[in-house]
Amino acid sequence: MMHFAKEHDIFELSKEQYLLINYVSGAADIIDNSCKIALEKGDYKLLDKNIIDELISRKYLFSSIQEYEQYLFELDKKLLSVEKTQMPNFLLIPSYNCNFECSYCYQKSYQIEKFYGNKDYSKNIVDAMFAAMDKIIENTGNQENKDFIKVTLMGGEPLFSHNDDILPFIFEKLKDKKYKVSVITNGYELDNYIPFLRKLNIDFIQITMDGTKEIHDTKRFNNKHVGTFDVIMKNVKKALEAGLNVEIRNNVDADNILNLPAFAYALSDLKNDFPNLLHPYIYILQDGGCSGNKTIINEVESLETVLALEKIYPNLNIFRKTFHGIDLINSIVNNTPFKPKMSNCAACRNQYILDGHGNIYKCWFGVGNDKFKIGNYISDLKICDVADTAWKKRNIINLKKCIQCKYRYICGGGCANRATIDPDTGIRREKCADYKKIMGIYFNHLFVENRNEEIICK
Ligand code: SF4
Ligand code: SF4
Repeated sequence: MMHFAKEHDIFELSKEQYLLINYVSGAADIIDNSCKIALEKGDYKLLDKNIIDELISRKYLFSSIQEYEQYLFELDKKLLSVEKTQMPNFLLIPSYNCNFECSYCYQKSYQIEKFYGNKDYSKNIVDAMFAAMDKIIENTGNQENKDFIKVTLMGGEPLFSHNDDILPFIFEKLKDKKYKVSVITNGYELDNYIPFLRKLNIDFIQITMDGTKEIHDTKRFNNKHVGTFDVIMKNVKKALEAGLNVEIRNNVDADNILNLPAFAYALSDLKNDFPNLLHPYIYILQDGGCSGNKTIINEVESLETVLALEKIYPNLNIFRKTFHGIDLINSIVNNTPFKPKMSNCAACRNQYILDGHGNIYKCWFGVGNDKFKIGNYISDLKICDVADTAWKKRNIINLKKCIQCKYRYICGGGCANRATIDPDTGIRREKCADYKKIMGIYFNHLFVENRNEEIICK
């Protein structure tokens, strides 16, 4: 007997047209009312043979439940094997020092002490860091993609003059290894480091800006409590002129969501001058850090607000949106292959974060917090297998609720960090997003409000 895969949703486009979405294959198709009724009732006799064939080829329908289960079994096996053999990616934290005192700093909320460590051992630390990375790479089964190791520098603030005794060694090693490098920086001292960065294989520089000067300067000030907008904008321009890819991360909360059109306008000249190098994006703040949760907006509400604003201010389209499920939506809109997920993020795969104290972590929001530490590397590489495995096993085939969830291949089980710090859950529990509502809102925006039917039927 034919089987209709449960990993789907049907959204109404009009009284006669519905959007059928497949959360495993990433297919999106417009169906009519009679097809919808036949599928919902499981009465496939009502469907023409060519429609059945089409639904089978697009993995909505299977000739039997066994065939459907086998398809998912093979998919899970493949995804697991890809994740297991994936080359590791690394984040390096030269120090936790920062030249900013942002109002919402998550690192402050973990009470990371300012570390002005013993500078004599900086070079030894860098040697140990890279030796540990070599070992982790060696321990990864598949060595074929060794040339594509990605390393991200973060902090604290990595591009900070206080780190100057350690940074040249790090830059030198990154250059020798030919690793693909990204830097997460506040951008305040970026100009001093552009000559060094240009010599590396730079992927992108990520800089956080929280809106126009009036807003940004109330949230992101330096440690003398002086606003930082003008200096950052000047440095962004210098980086773009040097040919570096710059991602502007706009942390959005209740304080600045309505500032988005003005911020888009403020960035428009730079975007026009450097269309392929400047990549602004919206990140909805999801934890309050030391500012608490008072300004956090729920994801569904913020998505509705952003899309409503974009209708009035089309210039908002310069921002990439980073809501849950956006990868599937982008694959539909851009007609690119959809990649189903086994886990939520790199922290649940082969990601390792090494700080300047010799500690190793999995998740960048957990750095400096012992609860998230999984090992150290000072005298020799020591990774606690139990802790590493707890992260690596956090996936949609091991999380009880996820096994049955129709959104699992677009979700991956949710953020492990948020699950871990939530006293009601823990790392072995799922952390859900409201996919049904998010998808409904986004598809309504794309296909009802904007009538983009031509992009359907990938
Ligand atoms: S576990 Fe959560 S906070 Fe940590 S890297 Fe993954 S998505 Fe980000
Ligand atoms: S975390 Fe929640 S939404 Fe995500 S796959 Fe698991 S049960 Fe589904």
